[in-house]
Amino acid sequence: MDVLQLHPHGYCLGVRAAIDLALQAKKDHPSSNVYLLGLLVHNEEAVAELEKAGLIPLDERKKDLLSYLLDMQEGDVVVFSAHGHPSAYDDLAKAKGLICVDATCRYVKENLEAGKETKGSLLYIGVAGHLESEAFLANNPDSGFYDVKSHTGDLLRLKGKKETPTIITQTTLSGDEIEEAMDDIRVFFPDATISKERCHSTSLRQKAVAFLPSDVDALIVLGSKRSNNSVKLYELGLSMDKETYLCLGLEDVKELNLKGKRRVALCSGASTSDATFDAVLSYLRSV
Ligand code: SF4
Repeated sequence: MDVLQLHPHGYCLGVRAAIDLALQAKKDHPSSNVYLLGLLVHNEEAVAELEKAGLIPLDERKKDLLSYLLDMQEGDVVVFSAHGHPSAYDDLAKAKGLICVDATCRYVKENLEAGKETKGSLLYIGVAGHLESEAFLANNPDSGFYDVKSHTGDLLRLKGKKETPTIITQTTLSGDEIEEAMDDIRVFFPDATISKERCHSTSLRQKAVAFLPSDVDALIVLGSKRSNNSVKLYELGLSMDKETYLCLGLEDVKELNLKGKRRVALCSGASTSDATFDAVLSYLRSV
């Protein structure tokens, strides 16, 4: 089968750096418990690999992160995820005698710093409940929030402040999500603009899908249902009336009925490894 590889694919810079930091932490502290506070990457295969290396992932959907942190013992190592975390956790970890490793992605850090430096009113556009949104709002408690899933936000409350807010967005939103949010926001603040660009790793992947050649019969997105940016790529494919599949890895792809397809495009979310991408690529080329 003819396979069109979309670029970029495999781990993004932030995920790669976070995994390297976590593995190094285990090497540096081989006899300590090394906890990943919140899934370091939203990909089950990647998390399983980290477990194999002796790391202990703590899933934010099973218990809240603060409770996990409170359960840790002096000398334990805590790796904060690429999505950022409330700064109060640093103080708590220090007070408990934990060893901290901060894997916050540099783009997420830039957003957190921009929020801190903002003097006037602030509005964050994101996905409610996502670790990155939660970290931003915890570190900027006066910020308003607009949720791109429910299309609701603190617009009326901010309107009372009579100034156009500085707007910061979650790094992995799609261009469409941001535009729709801005349409709503401009009803209240006609001159509102975004103060910072999205992460390029995400926007370039979305652009590659948006400009798929017409002779592609189907699109396969490699990523987890828990990965916001992978789900976005999947939804984008569907919105273009392309036959689109979201698969975690090779086993899922083997289940697909691709009979009659002459050309398939393959892309991945930012938390899918190069090894998974390459394994699927060689499989598809062989069928
Ligand atoms: S998707 Fe972008 S912001 Fe998120 S971890 Fe990767 S590089 Fe950082």
